[in-house]
Amino acid sequence: MRAVDLIIRKRDGGRLSSDEIGWFVDGVTTGAIPEYQTSALLMAIVWRGLDEDETVCLTEAMVRSGGRVDLSSLSGVKVGKHSTGGVGDTISLVLVPLLAACGALVPKSSGRALGHTGGTIDKLESIPGFRVTMTSAEFLAQVAEIGCAMVGQSKDLAPADKKLYALRDVTGTVESLPLIASSIMSKKIAEGTDALVLDVKVGGGAFMKTLDAARRLAEAMVAIGNRNGLRTRAVLTDMDAPLGAAIGNALEVIEAIETLKDRGPADLRELSLVLTSHLLVQAGLQPDLTAARARAESVLASGAGLEKFRQLIERQGGDPSVVDDYARFSAPVRRETLRAPSAGYVTRIQAEEIGRASMLLGAGRTRVDAPIDYGAGIMLRAKPGDRVSAGDALADLAVGAHAQVEQALELAASAYVIAAEPPAPAPLVLGVVA
Ligand code: URA
Ligand code: CA
Repeated sequence: MRAVDLIIRKRDGGRLSSDEIGWFVDGVTTGAIPEYQTSALLMAIVWRGLDEDETVCLTEAMVRSGGRVDLSSLSGVKVGKHSTGGVGDTISLVLVPLLAACGALVPKSSGRALGHTGGTIDKLESIPGFRVTMTSAEFLAQVAEIGCAMVGQSKDLAPADKKLYALRDVTGTVESLPLIASSIMSKKIAEGTDALVLDVKVGGGAFMKTLDAARRLAEAMVAIGNRNGLRTRAVLTDMDAPLGAAIGNALEVIEAIETLKDRGPADLRELSLVLTSHLLVQAGLQPDLTAARARAESVLASGAGLEKFRQLIERQGGDPSVVDDYARFSAPVRRETLRAPSAGYVTRIQAEEIGRASMLLGAGRTRVDAPIDYGAGIMLRAKPGDRVSAGDALADLAVGAHAQVEQALELAASAYVIAAEPPAPAPLVLGVVA
C-alpha cells in the first residue's frame, strides 16, 4: 500500500477500505507515514468526508492504536459523559457525584483547559490537595468503594488520535464531522464504560454553530458508540451563553457545590438533572425518564450528591472542608466590575469572548504548559433576559496575578449584547439523539 494512492482516491471522492484505514492509522502511530502525507489525507477528508462505515473503521483503528481500560472487575453498570466543550460548563462536577449517588459507577477521565474552554481536571486541582493522577489499581478500587473517581486522561488511550489531533490543530483540519466524531468516540470507547451520554453543544461558544450540524455530529457519534457496544445517547444543548454564572476554576467548583446544595443557577441545575436522567435510563438503572428524573431530584434534595462529592474530594487527597468553607480556595488578587454601557435587555452573552476574557484574567492557558491562576475568572451578574440600567454590574472579574486586565475587560464588554427588546426565551435542551 502507498499513502499517496489513498490520498489521491480520497481527494477524488472515493472510498477507503477498512484495511486501508487500519494501515494508515498504524502508520500514523508508528511514524511510518510522514506528517505531510497524513496532513494531505486529513485535508482530503475535510473536503470529501467519510461515510458511516469509514468513520467507524477510523474510530476502531484509533482505539486499537492504544490500550483499553479494563473495567471488568467492577460489578455494576459503568457510565461515562462527554461534552463537546463549553465555557463555564460546570456540569461534570455536579453530574459525577449525582450519578454515583444514584447507584451508577462513574470512572471519569477528563481533560485540561485549552484556549477559551475550561477543563474539569484544572477545576478539580483548584481544591487544595486534590490529586488527579492515580494508578489503575487505585482508580478501580476507588470506583468500587465510593462509585466514582475523576482523573486526567491517560496517555495510552487512542495515541493515534493524539497525533492526528495535534496535526489537525495546525493544518486547518479540525472542522470535519467524521474527524471530530471519530476523535471523540475513540477515546470514549477506549475508556471502557457500558453507557455514555454526550452533551453536544450548539451555538456561538461551540464547535457546532447550528442545530443541524450538531444533530448530524450527534447522530454520527451515537452510531459509532452503538456499533461498538457502548450504549450512547446524545443531548443537544444550547451554548450561546455560558452555563451558570461562574467561569473559572475555583469559581466553578464553588458553583458546583452550590448546585449540589440545591441552590445553584437554574440552567446548571436543569442540565445536570437532564443529563443524569438520560444516563440512568441509558444504563438501565431506571425504567424511563420520569422515574430517572424523580430519582436524580431526590438525590439532589437529600444532599446525597453533595456527600458523594465530599467523599470524592477526601478520597483523592483534597481538603473536604472546602464544601463548607469557600475561603479555603485561592482568592483573586483583586476584583473589577464590568458595567452596562446603556440600559436595555441582555439579549446575548457570547460564550467564546467570555471564555477568552476569563483566560486573560489567568483562569486558562494559551499554551499547554502555561500555569493557571485558580482564583481567577468571571462571575456573570446579568444573564440573557435580564433588564439592566446604564452603570449596572454585568459581571465581576476575579483578577489573577498575571492578568491582562484591560484586554479582559474589553473582551468581556464585547461579549454582552444589550438591546431595547427582550430576547425570545431560548430552550436549554434542543433535542435528543438516541
Ligand atoms: N474534541 C476532540 O476530542 N476531538 C475533536 O476532533 C474535536 C473535539
Ligand atoms: Ca458555570
